[in-house]
Amino acid sequence: MSYRLYIPGPLTVSADIVQAMGKPMIGHRSKDFVSLYEDMQPRLQKMFVTQDPVYLSTSSAWGVMEGALRNVCRKGVLNCMNGAFSDKWNDVAKRCGKYAEALQFDWGKPIDPEAVRKALATGKFDCITFIHSETSTGTLSPIADIMAVVREFPDVISIADTVSSFSTLPIAKDQLGVDILLTGSQKALALPPGLAIFAVSERARERAKQSADRGYYFDLIEFHDNHVKGMTPSTPCISLFYGLQARLHQVDAEGLENRFERHRRLNERVRAWGYGKGFSLLPEEKFATRGLNCFKNDRNADLERLNKTLKSRHKLVIDGGYGKLKGKTFRISNMGDESDATIATLIAALDDALAEQGM
Ligand SMILES: *Cc1c(COP(=O)(O)O)cnc(C)c1O
Repeated sequence: MSYRLYIPGPLTVSADIVQAMGKPMIGHRSKDFVSLYEDMQPRLQKMFVTQDPVYLSTSSAWGVMEGALRNVCRKGVLNCMNGAFSDKWNDVAKRCGKYAEALQFDWGKPIDPEAVRKALATGKFDCITFIHSETSTGTLSPIADIMAVVREFPDVISIADTVSSFSTLPIAKDQLGVDILLTGSQKALALPPGLAIFAVSERARERAKQSADRGYYFDLIEFHDNHVKGMTPSTPCISLFYGLQARLHQVDAEGLENRFERHRRLNERVRAWGYGKGFSLLPEEKFATRGLNCFKNDRNADLERLNKTLKSRHKLVIDGGYGKLKGKTFRISNMGDESDATIATLIAALDDALAEQGM
């Protein structure tokens, strides 16, 4: 049974991307591979708004989230936490044997830059992690303000997860001064899962050189040494590379600004629908992310029943809340390929499925 995914990742992969991924296999040390890699690199740098190299990792985003810590954290990491994914990062840091402290904010609240300043001023940390768009709560933290604070501490390497914000709104890596900026294939890029994409500053690479236990699979130096040859350290998911290449060409054709505008418009359309039905957003509106809406279940809808109807009658699904927010919130993605037409279809389906519950 096929149905359209309006969950915040993975998303429905369009037919042209699937077709691109079906291209014949090539050797990962061949000239054809180098051409593929080198065709994507400037397009990726343009999207990250960076002069730094953009590496490609055959892993989900978590691979790079963990790997980045193993490369750059020597003294201690400050984990900014305000939702399921960012909270988890603290656990991951500890499991890697790092000294890690939590800077906890309530779920649905953004990261407070002043609190970051206070924590970093203790001198206990040489790196920081934060999530730009906390997908579990639909909350966008003020990355420019956070980075302005982090830049006051020159020894602190910054690792920013932009998994559900990348390509939905402008994120200028070099201007912000983020050292390691990462995203994953299955969110706003609407590719199948399994590929992490990350840009790394020279500062972060220098730090990595001093880290003895950075391992192999996510070793930034391995990535870089291969990158300069137009390659990856080990055999990558070449089919996904084909998909990414096709996506990058599409982004170029659409224009980044138009892409941002499309996501803003569709995001607001879903938001307006939710307000009209009597649902409020979990985060304060000015901190709401652009690739999805996380609504509070103010009207106590039966979300399981809602999704059952959406799936069986309308061949689509939304998300019924993540982790401890299950049943209390619902999330609707407008990332990837969503258009005015697909969002209109979604809204009509939601209206029908809610009517069944008298809403
Ligand atoms: C989805 C998501 C992740 C996890 O990505 P995986 O690809 O499952 O490793 C991490 N961070 C954020 C913000 C996400 O939305």
